[in-house]
Amino acid sequence: MTKGTPSMGKKSGKKNFARCRRCGKSAYHIRKKKCASCGFGNTAKLRVFNWMKLSKRR
Ligand SMILES: [Zn+2]
Repeated sequence: MTKGTPSMGKKSGKKNFARCRRCGKSAYHIRKKKCASCGFGNTAKLRVFNWMKLSKRR
């Protein structure tokens, strides 16, 4: 197992991600039936983390 560009060759073959219907990114996992970006298929709400809500009030 190597890091870097040669590892990209392992990405060939079966594709697991398709374009997400909700966020439009290619992050919808076909086998898991959920989007890694917005959580589509996993939750009705948008996938959100606590650190996303941090506002700029120091
Ligand atoms: Zn999505």
